[in-house]
Amino acid sequence: LGGSISRALQQMSNATIIDEKVLNECLNEITRALLQADVQFKLVRDMTTNIKKIVNLDDLAAGHNKRRIIQQAVFNELCKILDPGKPSFTPKKGKPSIVMFVGLQGSGKTTTCTKYAYYHQKKGWKPALVCADTFRAGAFDQLKQNATKAKIPFYGSYTESDPVKIAVDGVETFKKENCDLILVDTSGRHKQEAALFEEMRQVAEATKPDLVIFVMDSSIGQAAFDQAQAFKQSVAVGAVIVTKMDGHAKGGGALSAVAATKSPIIFIGTGEHMDEFDVFDVKPFVSRLLGMGDWSGFMDKIHEVVPMDQQPELLQKLSEGHFTLRIMYEQFQNILKMGPIGQVFSMLPGFSAELMPKGRENESQAKIKRYMTMMDSMTNEELDTSNPKLMTDSRIMRIARGSGHQVHEVMDMMEEYKRLAKMWSKMKGLKIPKKGEMSAL
Ligand code: GDP
Ligand code: MG
Repeated sequence: LGGSISRALQQMSNATIIDEKVLNECLNEITRALLQADVQFKLVRDMTTNIKKIVNLDDLAAGHNKRRIIQQAVFNELCKILDPGKPSFTPKKGKPSIVMFVGLQGSGKTTTCTKYAYYHQKKGWKPALVCADTFRAGAFDQLKQNATKAKIPFYGSYTESDPVKIAVDGVETFKKENCDLILVDTSGRHKQEAALFEEMRQVAEATKPDLVIFVMDSSIGQAAFDQAQAFKQSVAVGAVIVTKMDGHAKGGGALSAVAATKSPIIFIGTGEHMDEFDVFDVKPFVSRLLGMGDWSGFMDKIHEVVPMDQQPELLQKLSEGHFTLRIMYEQFQNILKMGPIGQVFSMLPGFSAELMPKGRENESQAKIKRYMTMMDSMTNEELDTSNPKLMTDSRIMRIARGSGHQVHEVMDMMEEYKRLAKMWSKMKGLKIPKKGEMSAL
């Protein structure tokens, strides 16, 4: 996919005369690629029509960087499709909010509502889970198991067969217990059928959720629009979560879900585990959709900001997929040298959301400096290993003492390291473009 888009754009930049024919050829290639990524045909067609309006052929002929103009236009249009223009309801800590999860069977509702609960629990919320799926045998056991693992209170029944009754009882129970996030997991069916939608409508009517989240599997393909629309017609869907983004699917169906529900994507699921859950970030998502990979923007930046003589070594390490604390240290040094740090690393999903929230660059900078002080107290062995198990309690205590920090701060730093190492490992085996070569779009 990325290949075909790059080829299309490469053709553009090689063509000496940029005429309408070349632009059309390029857009046709991009269209094919987006359709392969499961973006709905109508969305693609509207987008290419827009691009033709935006991209001024005369400008192109005048020797501007054609490739950049087209790539930027495509990228921006896709970002626009993912922005429904209004944010979703955001629950407030300390005030009870009811959140209902809907979607077809297997889309990941039960997994996702536990992840959602766990995510908020870590941030100091008091979440609780209600299993209103009486359709699938074992549904309650599954939720119970998840909830127990995450130490989250749960409610359900083996005998009651009325999902509405369970939902209402569960919500009441947790309101009394002052939970501030009451999450209602619902049933699904393999097919979209009237009974399912009627059940969703009744559960929603009885529990009056503050937010209904439509959970969709990233691999659902062209069916996404109709499915999302069908749910939206029965319940007031206000947000979307896309699951299984760790798989092969590019998730183009998510654009349809946003268009059909007029609701934003808020999180993505990136694995079966509780913590494999990320705040949705539009740019990396679009990059992936276009086959650029989350890292290609980052690669361009590496070429820009990492000193020339360090580039080959860093790129080599990247392709090996090893991420040591020393590499992290060196990258932090580079970040601090760069000035407005947010800009560069904002294109990395993990970096931007957690380590460097937008608008809080100063804080982030302070945090990076703190981490570096801690790393200054590490031995070479510790800095050069890519095995976090080496960091025993006694080593962590020594580092904390040596750097004048708290043990939990060193542990935070190690968590950050592990998260980055995980992202880094995705780079393994990647063919790294050399400077000046096209890195996909
Ligand atoms: P439900 O029927 O909608 O409640 O879906 P489940 O939560 O039971 O999930 C169905 C399957 O998808 C389970 O095997 C989950 O472990 C798996 N699953 C859910 N989310 C993800 C994800 O983000 N990544 C991966 N790889 N698997 C997931
Ligand atoms: Mg379920």
